[in-house]
Amino acid sequence: MAAVIGNPVRHSLSPLLHNAAFAAAGLDWVYVAFEPAPDGGGQAVAAMRALDLGGLSVTMPFKEQVAGCVDRCSPAATALGAVNCVRWEGAALVGENTDGEGLIRSLVADSGLGLAGARCLVVGAGGAARSVVVALAGAGAAAVKIVNRTHHRAAEAAALAAPVASVGARTDVGAADVVINATPMGMRAGDPLPVDPGLLRPGQVVVDLIYHPAVTPLLEAARETGALAVNGLGMLVHQAALAFTLWTGVEAPLDAMRAAVAHRPA
Ligand code: NAP
Repeated sequence: MAAVIGNPVRHSLSPLLHNAAFAAAGLDWVYVAFEPAPDGGGQAVAAMRALDLGGLSVTMPFKEQVAGCVDRCSPAATALGAVNCVRWEGAALVGENTDGEGLIRSLVADSGLGLAGARCLVVGAGGAARSVVVALAGAGAAAVKIVNRTHHRAAEAAALAAPVASVGARTDVGAADVVINATPMGMRAGDPLPVDPGLLRPGQVVVDLIYHPAVTPLLEAARETGALAVNGLGMLVHQAALAFTLWTGVEAPLDAMRAAVAHRPA
């Protein structure tokens, strides 16, 4: 059995993804969602241990709390100070962070993109942005510019992957090969665009980590200019696939996982 903890958690697609994956792989596992109190991350990890859960997914607001109460963290989770999945290694609970690697894998597997040598611009400096910055640098990006509403948080994110990563300016959009929105701007109707759409150009790859709505105003603008527009569903699937393999040792059935979220109820 595996579980996700989040607060709120009822909109999570993780149960859909993982239960489809367990069924497709023929594993007798089940995946459920729990909504602990906002300070309950440590108790959830203790429950994983007490109940011998096979795996735990961790979402907001527990990612930092859980990093502080597992037995040890992977290098990525240590650098980020945030855990999105917990696995067993012998009797030890290990915190991992598969978000950034999930995005890289989705760009490679679903969109045929290589990140080596790419000039990237990331808007945002929160948990998702930081994991993406570290993963882009790890994938060989030539440069990762970060822009964020709160400047000092952009600098903190850049420090995680310096010198490849650095604080950028919104005008850097035009020079980027890959532009990534890692803010919630675009989730609600009427949100301003995270970048000036007039700076987008054909041949760019524009990624929005948002997957609901499937096409944000940023992605609409990217399509109109002839850029490749990619939403966050692929990242969601691939970060879950990485967790699935960490827990089970089995290759994730990606097609079943993609189908589960593509045909989800509205
Ligand atoms: P987070 O830690 O709360 O960070 C939010 C970031 O967005 C911060 O940089 C914040 O800037 C910025 N921001 C928020 N509201 C803003 C506004 N009105 N104007 C300008 N900037 C604003 O959130 P997160 O976990 O990183 O998530 C960010 C986005 O990624 C969300 O939309 C989330 O759904 C998505 N996401 C997708 C996946 C996936 O698998 N596809 C995974 C994780 C997250 P400040 O620093 O100035 O506050």
